[in-house]
Amino acid sequence: MAEAAAPPTQTTDLRDLPREALRDFVRELGEPAYRGDQVFRWIWRHGASSFDEMTNLPHGLRDRLAESSRIGAARIAQVDRSVDGTRKLLLQLEDGARIEAVLIPDGERLTLCISSQVGCALACRFCATGTMGLTRHMRAGEIAYQLVAAQQEMLDDEVAGRRADPAARPVTNIVMMGMGEPLHNYDGTLAALQILTDEQGFGYAPARVTVSTVGLIPQMLALGRALPVRLAVSLHAGDADTRRSLMPIDKRYPMDEVLAACREFPLKTRERITFEYTLLRGVNDGDEDARNLAVKLEGLRCKVNVLPFNEHPGAPFERPDDEAVTQFSERLRSLGVETFVRTTRGRDIAAACGQLAVKSES
Ligand code: SF4
Repeated sequence: MAEAAAPPTQTTDLRDLPREALRDFVRELGEPAYRGDQVFRWIWRHGASSFDEMTNLPHGLRDRLAESSRIGAARIAQVDRSVDGTRKLLLQLEDGARIEAVLIPDGERLTLCISSQVGCALACRFCATGTMGLTRHMRAGEIAYQLVAAQQEMLDDEVAGRRADPAARPVTNIVMMGMGEPLHNYDGTLAALQILTDEQGFGYAPARVTVSTVGLIPQMLALGRALPVRLAVSLHAGDADTRRSLMPIDKRYPMDEVLAACREFPLKTRERITFEYTLLRGVNDGDEDARNLAVKLEGLRCKVNVLPFNEHPGAPFERPDDEAVTQFSERLRSLGVETFVRTTRGRDIAAACGQLAVKSES
């Protein structure tokens, strides 16, 4: 896979630095490390967008920070609201690139689905993002900023039933299942996860954060060693040939090797790996597919999320009818696989799984 270049920057964007890196940064400016903690809190806890706002920092340090760094900017360009309460946020990044994040309210839970790349290189055949190709990786600050944007959007919001309150933290869960393959952008993803889970920032428990991957094995195992976040692996088939026909990455990381790596992935007690399975009419929705999948998953601590395909323009697949979805999931359950059918959300605003795709402006 060709690596995409980062966007040109004149100075370091402090939003890209996890707290440890920020402590090193201020040390290099001749300041004690705790000043880095203060800057981190200003950016992520108080939403500061300029050094002038950091009133507990000495003026001299503020000046030196302004000379050697910046606090990157991004903005919400558009919000689409679904009849089911789902919201799709279109965000414009500094270089004009556009990405999407999706807010999914579900009872007490409010899940934010975030993107990790502008486009995606992996070209899974059922995915709209895959048709865009990869423009570039998102930087850590851009990935984490999606949560700030979501908070802005949710303040004083009737759907969440909350009043405007800068300290409110209405998003309960974060899933990296938006545009891009998070582990193809490993460094940006890991730094963003460190920011999101830092107690001096948002303080999300790693167990409330799920990273979805097609199964880039080395990065998957490295992530498991680095942070106890949850893992969701895209399988989408019960046998290697079908998977390979849907996901070109299977040539490099074949299904059986991905599943072997899943068996090595560190899991806490009661935790499980989630396997994502997009159900495509006549392609992977038969009894035999369910049987093959059950055999492959034998002995793995896991559950399967069945996602009936969300159609989008140009997609060469069809959504199975409800009866076929029920039959497939019942079959899996009868074979001892814990199975959930994911309710499709935000389909009317093209915010459902596999539907995210935007054009970049530069
Ligand atoms: S499903 Fe994920 S990895 Fe595959 S093309 Fe879409 S965004 Fe990329």
